[in-house]
Amino acid sequence: MKRLLPTLFLMLIGLSLLTAQKKTDQIINDLEQKSGMYSEIAMEIWELAEMGFLEEKSSLLLQKTLSDEGFTIQSGVAGIPTAFIAEYGSGSPVIAVLGEYDALPGLSQKAVSEQVTAGGQAGHACGHHLFGTASAAAAIATKDYMEAHKIEGTIRFYGCPAEEGGSGKVYMVREGLFKDVDVALHWHPGASNAANIAASLANKSAKFRFYGVSSHAAAAPDKGRSALDGVEAMNLMVNMMREHIPEKARIHYVITEGGKAPNVVPNFAEVYYYARHNRRDVVMSIFDRIVDAAEGAAQGTGTTMDYEVLGGVHELLPNLVLQEIMYANLNKVGGYGYTEEENLFADKIAVTLGSDKADLQTIASVMPFKSEGKAFGSTDVGDVSFAVPTVGMNAATWVPGTPAHSWQAVAAGGTSIGAKGMMVAAKTLALTAVDLLSSKELIRKAKDEFIQRRGEDFEYIPLLGDRPPALDYRK
Ligand SMILES: [Zn+2]
Repeated sequence: MKRLLPTLFLMLIGLSLLTAQKKTDQIINDLEQKSGMYSEIAMEIWELAEMGFLEEKSSLLLQKTLSDEGFTIQSGVAGIPTAFIAEYGSGSPVIAVLGEYDALPGLSQKAVSEQVTAGGQAGHACGHHLFGTASAAAAIATKDYMEAHKIEGTIRFYGCPAEEGGSGKVYMVREGLFKDVDVALHWHPGASNAANIAASLANKSAKFRFYGVSSHAAAAPDKGRSALDGVEAMNLMVNMMREHIPEKARIHYVITEGGKAPNVVPNFAEVYYYARHNRRDVVMSIFDRIVDAAEGAAQGTGTTMDYEVLGGVHELLPNLVLQEIMYANLNKVGGYGYTEEENLFADKIAVTLGSDKADLQTIASVMPFKSEGKAFGSTDVGDVSFAVPTVGMNAATWVPGTPAHSWQAVAAGGTSIGAKGMMVAAKTLALTAVDLLSSKELIRKAKDEFIQRRGEDFEYIPLLGDRPPALDYRK
């Protein structure tokens, strides 16, 4: 008996390891089998390259893909025609997978290794065609596994429009659409495979519009009041302000309208501002000072001014418990290799990025775990992360060294490299969703950490206030 007990114990461990391995294999094989279909869907969305809040066909394609698999669809949620929720199962736990599908203006590019426009208005320079497709694939694979193993709970896909400058998810969070969600999963296309703690900057953006009086700039300048003067005076003040704001804050602007002809005093001018910092309260205070500068500028130039807040997002709230699960699953999935043809393409892209050849090791492996992230950009996933415990990862959908929002990102994202990288994410997300659906204990731990990091008395204040969705911000 004394000998029998340890043997039994070892057998039990062996059995559970075997079951875990079987689970992993099943989910990965399921996704492998459908990878051709998902690649076609992603490439169709890549071709469409629809911009924020205008992603009608891309959204419909993902809705159809999910409804064909037995998900029920609720479309046009939060007052946004291209936002939707696809759901399978019932009751708790509720696991959400976020998907995006908006493209970026001015970044049209063919799937070739040199910079050639595809002739369109926009391009998938942030890889959101892969983001949306792989997240839908992960939701479907999770559903398949739940069905086969009679696992209770709900898997939901959140179709999230206009991440790029439109803050689409903020309206969805504000609407309370995540209220009953236990954990939200997401990923982002990138140049390596990683599941680290990530950070992002809170931001707030607005267009400031100045109204003056037109007159002949030479014959009757005294009769005119220049709206462009208003914009320039505002920019001058904001640029002086940069010295007196907290370190690491970022302010950027573009003049979107400055008049039509030098001999006409412009009666309308517009400037588009972003303020960012890794804390939302700092962003709010900087934004208020930018508004003060705009008001002062209007007064000093004899013009009037109004402004429209177009976006506003929270920083990302990390979750170490969830990140470790995601990382373990990414390691089970691992990286991938290039074919000869992909390698040729990648080497040519690598040269345009200043290196001799593509770093194959990065594609084939998973980056070492980091429990702290550095924030450079912003994402509306931030608001989701303050609503429910949220976790994400990156997959190598681009040639190593490729920055987001570049023609090289559009190009690789439109090839089999993008499609292969996206499946690394789909598999990792599905494995993580199944892990969470199978363990109340994991969810409880994730929630404890979430409450502790967010604070007990946290109150959600959307940075974009109560404005209706800015559906025409790209028009
Ligand atoms: Zn993006």
